[in-house]
Amino acid sequence: MASEVLPELLEAVRRFVDKRLIPLEAQVDEADEVPADVVADMKALGLFGLSIPEEYGGLGLGMEDEALVAMEFGRTSPAFRSVFGSTVGIGSQGIVMDGTDAQKRAYLPRLASGELISSFCLTEPDAGSDAASLRTRARRDGDAYVLDGTKRYITNADKADVFTVMARTADTPKPADGVTAFIVEAATPGLKIGRPERKMGQRGAHVCDVVFDGCRVPADRVIGGSKGEGRGFRTAMKVIDRGRLHIAAVCVGTAGRLVQEMRRYALERRQFGKPIADFQLVQAMIADSETERCAARALVLEAARQRDTGAGVTKEASMAKYFASEMVGRVADRAVQVFGGAGYIADYGIERFYRDVRLFRLYEGTSQIQQLVIAREVLKDQDA
Ligand SMILES: Cc1cc2nc3c(=O)[nH]c(=O)nc-3n(C[C@H](O)[C@H](O)[C@H](O)COP(=O)(O)OP(=O)(O)OC[C@H]3O[C@@H](n4cnc5c(N)ncnc54)[C@H](O)[C@@H]3O)c2cc1C
Repeated sequence: MASEVLPELLEAVRRFVDKRLIPLEAQVDEADEVPADVVADMKALGLFGLSIPEEYGGLGLGMEDEALVAMEFGRTSPAFRSVFGSTVGIGSQGIVMDGTDAQKRAYLPRLASGELISSFCLTEPDAGSDAASLRTRARRDGDAYVLDGTKRYITNADKADVFTVMARTADTPKPADGVTAFIVEAATPGLKIGRPERKMGQRGAHVCDVVFDGCRVPADRVIGGSKGEGRGFRTAMKVIDRGRLHIAAVCVGTAGRLVQEMRRYALERRQFGKPIADFQLVQAMIADSETERCAARALVLEAARQRDTGAGVTKEASMAKYFASEMVGRVADRAVQVFGGAGYIADYGIERFYRDVRLFRLYEGTSQIQQLVIAREVLKDQDA
């Protein structure tokens, strides 16, 4: 069903990106805020429900379809995608994948419509790459759990109505086995949001601390219900596999935009009496960028198709995210070079992309963590 609406959806997103979002890129960077009417249009387009099943009011896209939409969105500032990215991805998928029927009914329709914004709280001041060592505590107290601890760099925390929170319910020999996932509403007493951090790029998308201080969460908000205790880290890792493919697809889209920007500028800009596009050293930068973009696209779509068959894609998602995020970093660097001095000047917008794409190599697992995952999977599987 979802695939039937895909061509129409892709066309609508393409138009929206070209007509509505690209003209606003500089303004959003300057104001550090996506305008409210743009967010309303995103809701109307159904973007908050991309990955939520149709029975809960979403579009129910498979991974390949979602990747194609993410590639379209990648063609503009990543801050726009972030508006719905944390709800579509890491914020809601824990409920979709492992939530009880009651949890799905209570939250998914409102997430799909954009009525509720969600965020994902895994990282802490002392637990980043080593996420399983997280220290936020959830202590059982009657029919509730009491949460204490601090989560760091949480995307959309200042806008979120509901959080998926990973907290420790037990001290187990393997730290990951003592982690439980909770659905926590933003209005819960004892939950506080810090000030948005100042960042290198992706201005318009905010990250803040989320602090839990004696925050009482009903026991029926454990994702997966009574069977969910101790399963939170597994939920988080499944969610992140999907998230990595989504981010990889965004990187492919951004690389496509940058190749187009390089092409346009190289044909227009003249030096030594001819367009710089005539110089083979400039052509090499464009050729390398386009080749790498297409290689990343193939890798992302292959992994997404594999996931749609129900196969595990831990290695493939890491490879896609690793290659695509490093690739777009190289492409953005070449784009600055093709633009020459203009590449360094804010009015041309290329330096903004250069700053924006740097994040893709850091969040949802740094490049080094992707390398470790890929190597682990290869080393344990002789047929890899
Ligand atoms: C803008 C932004 C948005 C974010 N959004 C969210 C969010 O919504 N929710 C959330 O939970 N988190 C979020 N994060 C957190 C992000 O996922 C972490 O920053 C990231 O996983 C890295 O953790 P860290 O910053 O603690 O770095 P560290 O883990 O301290 O890593 C520092 C360096 O050491 C390297 N390193 C660490 N361990 C190893 C190892 N074993 N082998 C080799 N190298 C290693 C890393 O690759 C890196 O180069 C966000 C971060 C940012 C900056």
